[in-house]
Amino acid sequence: MTHTTTSSAPVLDVAKVRADFPALAQEVHGKPLVYLDNAATSQKPRAVIDAVSDFYKHDNANVHRGVHTLSVHATELYEGAREKVRALINAAELSEIIFVRGTTEGINLVASSFGARFKPGDEIIISALEHHSNIVPWQLLCERSGAKLRVIPIDYSGDIVMDEYRQLLNERTKLVAIAHVSNSLGTVNPVEEVIQLAHERGIPVLIDGAQALPHFKVDVRALGADFYVFSGHKMFGPTGSGILYGRRELLETLPPYQGGGDMIASVSFAKTTFNVLPHRLEAGTPDIAAVVGLGAAIDYLNGLGWDAVAAHERELVSYAVERIAGIRGVTLIGTPAHRAGVVSFTIDGIHPHDAGMILDHEGIAIRAGHHCTQPVMDFFGVPATNRASFAFYNTRDDVDKLAAGIQKVQDVFKG
Ligand code: PMP
Repeated sequence: MTHTTTSSAPVLDVAKVRADFPALAQEVHGKPLVYLDNAATSQKPRAVIDAVSDFYKHDNANVHRGVHTLSVHATELYEGAREKVRALINAAELSEIIFVRGTTEGINLVASSFGARFKPGDEIIISALEHHSNIVPWQLLCERSGAKLRVIPIDYSGDIVMDEYRQLLNERTKLVAIAHVSNSLGTVNPVEEVIQLAHERGIPVLIDGAQALPHFKVDVRALGADFYVFSGHKMFGPTGSGILYGRRELLETLPPYQGGGDMIASVSFAKTTFNVLPHRLEAGTPDIAAVVGLGAAIDYLNGLGWDAVAAHERELVSYAVERIAGIRGVTLIGTPAHRAGVVSFTIDGIHPHDAGMILDHEGIAIRAGHHCTQPVMDFFGVPATNRASFAFYNTRDDVDKLAAGIQKVQDVFKG
């Protein structure tokens, strides 16, 4: 799927890649679809759709339960996907990969279970860039435990202020939880440094990687992350698949999150004992087909080549930034030092919802709203932004159509 140029950078054959995604081939309002809402959810390659459908056609059974052939197949597929995730993020052990429904559930699991030890006066540090799902679970934990939430501010580029972070770290800090990539501005946070500074004080760090894995490969051990959470549906896998990675020594100390089948070793009314990791943190029947589909998405991405994906997107996103910022009356929201996948902007005098609806009539799908990051909107003093978010199957032509669409929006409002 990739070939190598003389400069030796791998190049993605985007036309070929696009043919793998049936949803991209359709028209919307009579215009070819330009899908630029990848940060909300990505489209799925045929390989993923087929893996899910084949699972239901041939292998459907519950996992870890039966001696019969289908259950053995289903278990092999499910556990095989766990190994694919482990290898992808370079986790040391399979027991460190917990399947959840998505990033939201992964963060809630850590807040409920790891957070059960938090006491009044303890502090949790997050950043002003976080998605609501990396804010609200900690607020709920603070209400339950008496802990306090501390917030690393951002500057007008949309970068976190590292000096302020250094000031916030202290002996009361019990956890730092921060996004790898901001879903509303595209900021790539300096998570290596964030982790290193926390570790100097023995503080564990959770990284919300929901917007990282769709764009670049992550090595949790090289990063030193204690917890790393991400969603399958944003990385070309099915909805209902998500991953919580945790360092084993830390996961071993977590009390069960939910009680039920599969997470126990034995149950009696006198005493219940619990299963080993990862099963202890996976109660009940999981979304087996979604996990199998996620395994297919990982195979697909590995086949494309992560370097080729990252190189294509880097070039595309800088083209989009240049093109959109060059339109008179358009303001970029966030100009971070490092950006992945996302360009947010406002159009003078035009509410993003109006712009989004007009663009939809041109076949262009963007997101208009606060992107579940209301504090970011408050900081920039806007109710909402227009957000174009990219994947490796997007092209310069998509960007040009978006730019023409924005001009059309302006014309509609002028006339
Ligand atoms: N964190 C970030 C940075 C996100 O972009 C999202 C999804 N928009 C989430 C968390 C929540 O992910 P999910 O809805 O898949 O649980």
